[in-house]
Amino acid sequence: MSIKENINRIKLGLPGEVTLIAVSKTKGIDAIKEAYDAGIRDFGENKVQELMAKIEYLPSDIRWHLIGHLQRNKVKYIVDKVTLIHSLDSIRLLEEIERQYGIKNCIANTLIQINIGEEESKTGVSLQDFESLVSACELCRHVKVKGLMAIIPKGDEESCRKYFKKMKDIWDSLKERNYKNIEMKYLSMGMTEDYEIAVSEGSNMIRVGTGIFGVR
Ligand SMILES: *Cc1c(COP(=O)(O)O)cnc(C)c1O
Repeated sequence: MSIKENINRIKLGLPGEVTLIAVSKTKGIDAIKEAYDAGIRDFGENKVQELMAKIEYLPSDIRWHLIGHLQRNKVKYIVDKVTLIHSLDSIRLLEEIERQYGIKNCIANTLIQINIGEEESKTGVSLQDFESLVSACELCRHVKVKGLMAIIPKGDEESCRKYFKKMKDIWDSLKERNYKNIEMKYLSMGMTEDYEIAVSEGSNMIRVGTGIFGVR
């Protein structure tokens, strides 16, 4: 199936309030333009360098999402270039975002990435460190938290549901509290293999690569 057909098929099954991010990592300009022409405006990249190399060749109304691990020494390149950083996962990274966005007097919109499966190999803040990261965010002037993001452990449907539910519970409980700088607008979870389960468990932002562009 073509990129356009894939997008139409996915969109057809999605509730209107769910944002579909086309994950274009490793894909070329032509493929991204095809998705753009099919109506996609939200694109996700996981590497800063790759993102920077593509931006200039593509329409300026694209909303770029940084979905991969963000190294502190790369923050300076993305100021004012990305719509949403999905991978805020430590106080040290937060401090660098605050500093770099402060220099240019911009606001960084971010999601806190939680390592919900507590996998050692995965990035994301641990549940144990989550509250202190939230408190640190409240002190910022140039960082706004717009929600949460997770990459869940691989597993069967039951296991996926369990982790998506855990995330939704955390998202809901934060939503009820009143924090400075923090609102629970987005819950970014679900990829090609599990986005339908994620949406049924309350995700409102999905990140689909393979399902749109084919295998990498
Ligand atoms: C690659 C990637 C995706 C998309 O994965 P697919 O299985 O190709 O849909 C989603 N989220 C993140 C963080 C990724 O790195």
